[in-house]
Amino acid sequence: MSSYPHLLAPLDLGQVTLRNRVVMGSMHTGLEDRLWHRGKLAAYFAERARGGVGLIITGGFSPNRHGWFYPFSGSMIHRTDALSHRVITRAVHDAGGRICLQLLHAGRYAFHPLSRSASSIKAPINRFTPKAMSTREVRQTVRDFARGARLAKSAGYDGVEIMGSEGYLLNQFTAPRTNHRTDDYGGSAANRRRFPVEVVQAVRQACGPDFIIVFRLSMVDLVPDGSTRQEVIDLAQAIEAAGASIINTGIGWHEARVPTIVTSVPRAAFVDATAQVKAAVGIPVIASNRINSPEVAEQVLASGKADLVSLARPMLADPHFVNKAAQGRADEINTCIACNQACLDHTFAMKRASCLVNPQACHETELVYLTTRKPRRIAVVGAGPAGLSCATIAAQRGHDVTLFDAADRIGGQFNLAARIPGKEEFAETLRYFAKRIEKTGVRLVLGRRVQPGELDDGGWDEVVVATGVKPRTPAIAGIGHPKVAGYADVLLGKVRAGARAAIIGAGGIGFDVAQYLVHDPELPRPEPADHWFKEWGVDFRSEAAGGLRKPEVDRAAREVYLLQRKSSPLGKDLGKTSGWVHRAVLKSKGVQLMKGCSYVKIDDQGLHITQQGRPLLLEVDTVVVCAGQESSRELFDAAAKAAGARPRYHVIGGAELATELDAKRAIRQGAELAARL
Ligand code: FAD
Ligand code: NAP
Ligand code: SF4
Repeated sequence: MSSYPHLLAPLDLGQVTLRNRVVMGSMHTGLEDRLWHRGKLAAYFAERARGGVGLIITGGFSPNRHGWFYPFSGSMIHRTDALSHRVITRAVHDAGGRICLQLLHAGRYAFHPLSRSASSIKAPINRFTPKAMSTREVRQTVRDFARGARLAKSAGYDGVEIMGSEGYLLNQFTAPRTNHRTDDYGGSAANRRRFPVEVVQAVRQACGPDFIIVFRLSMVDLVPDGSTRQEVIDLAQAIEAAGASIINTGIGWHEARVPTIVTSVPRAAFVDATAQVKAAVGIPVIASNRINSPEVAEQVLASGKADLVSLARPMLADPHFVNKAAQGRADEINTCIACNQACLDHTFAMKRASCLVNPQACHETELVYLTTRKPRRIAVVGAGPAGLSCATIAAQRGHDVTLFDAADRIGGQFNLAARIPGKEEFAETLRYFAKRIEKTGVRLVLGRRVQPGELDDGGWDEVVVATGVKPRTPAIAGIGHPKVAGYADVLLGKVRAGARAAIIGAGGIGFDVAQYLVHDPELPRPEPADHWFKEWGVDFRSEAAGGLRKPEVDRAAREVYLLQRKSSPLGKDLGKTSGWVHRAVLKSKGVQLMKGCSYVKIDDQGLHITQQGRPLLLEVDTVVVCAGQESSRELFDAAAKAAGARPRYHVIGGAELATELDAKRAIRQGAELAARL
């Protein structure tokens, strides 16, 4: 008997039977837009199909030019478009999977001057103002969706997903926020939903009864003047009547000021919004957002709140999620930690998506871990993210690997990340690597500080130096004062900060430490969803427009000052899709963000600074130093590097370069080196 009976149960849709309840949600990876990437896209999807997922949904393809994300982005307009997709559908079907193409019209989120929307209202996250669609254009767009679906069918897709959420075009019609029209497609709620309903009807008519139509519906818009709960339910019923096979969940518009998928959002937080729709329709409903483990997915399905679960980023992190769950190997799943660093942040920077914990994602044909024909003896020094990645992949390839660390546990700096409230998920990556060490047979030697030169003898073929970073100690008068602490001591609980604290350095770690210091230590970790909703002002159970109410933020646990020397805005370099969340939290907790500071001295009175030339005394009890990192690379620098000398030395991660280091680079460098060894 499986531990996940609901998750693994097949679903008979009438037209087809899905082998289980797991849907790979749509993600734009950057491989959709160019014909020469079709082979890579096919390999990426086929790997997920082999991994057991029940239904795959592609990234968005526009049904016409106005709906492009940006000029010449992926579309399904011509017969040639359809032909180019055959390689994808064939690869997925050969691997036993099912796949739907997502039809997405970007509306006012399109980054080009041809953009169209319900009304001419610029989105706060876009510099282009859309033109309002004429009634004729609306009707033409309905036909364009039908043509896109017909082409998708001819390309071999099992169905389409019609993107009606996240603030894209169809959602722009349903919400009063963006629909100020006076024709048949604006005004009353019935008129505002006419366009998406006509799209579903036209697609059903164009593709016949045996074609899957998924409609992605915004369960809660999370923007002012969004739809009400009743309007969402009425839309869902109309979509069912129009011929949709499945309703999928969308949560929040891209411009919403409530986070919906970052790591601090509680797991499955929004499933009750989906349950409200499920209770009102007869067709299957998919739950979504922050469902990243088989346990959570099983709970959602067993509770009857949804019929299927959508996992998008978790499919980047581990393409074999479903098979591992089915085979009783759930502890081997590489869990998505919802950091967005290599997926969404890349997409918004127009770079190809990947995954921080799985650099192979979207690079399946380029980063390949072949079994070695020449097994070697490899010593990896440092069991932080870089060393863990390198050691486990090298061992998986058949090398004889020993991994040393001076500490009594694996993980390096990543252990500290997992102690930040809202980043508890980071511990999953270390759980995954611990299991990989066991499965791949890496010999782990903890509590052993390797000395320079020590590994020159001993028969090693390769030595990988992954000794990471050490915190920088800035030269400030009084830096040795008892009220000064390093971030590691604070996060490890060795030093308890007083009622007033100043943080020197406002990089990623400074922000995280501020979050740690303002957080109520009594609050359970991870935070319960109801408390999170209260602090972010979310209420999808009432009839509040957009599901919003006034946020009620708990008092900060202490008074905190976060300082930097630069005069640029604090947190400017944090992740594109998560930095705004960190800034919003600290602002709501009253943290003083101070730029343009010079540090004068630290004494019994506190921290003396000048800000824009003005002397200031911050009367704080504790000063936490988060002033960046320096490489720890003595082992590499001391090594003999004569050509052909044994062992050969390599350096990766923070040991190679501390500047702009993050775990994404550390893990990727480890994987790339291991693939070459
Ligand atoms: P390290 O993690 O520093 O690991 C080096 C290891 O080498 C250590 O375990 C150390 O004990 C060992 N070692 C050193 N010298 C020796 C020796 N001589 N012999 C044996 N062992 C030795 N990154 C992100 O990408 N996203 C985040 O959200 C994020 N949040 C963070 C939050 C906090 C609070 C902190 C502190 C860091 C965060 N980071 C984050 C940064 C991330 O943890 C680092 O970039 C990453 O750990 C660097 O990996 P590494 O393997 O190069 O080095
Ligand atoms: P960082 O981002 O480089 O920030 C260091 C901070 O210290 C800066 O604010 C810098 O600003 C200040 N500083 C540098 N030298 C100083 C000096 N001599 N005296 C006083 N202040 C000094 O490094 P970090 O915060 O240590 O983070 C390390 C890495 O972990 C980062 O690269 C980051 O990518 C990663 N990380 C990522 C996240 C995430 O959410 N993605 C979270 C945490 C950590 P001024 O020079 O202006 O003072
Ligand atoms: Fe998940 Fe982070 Fe990987 Fe994106 S980069 S899939 S959020 S672990």
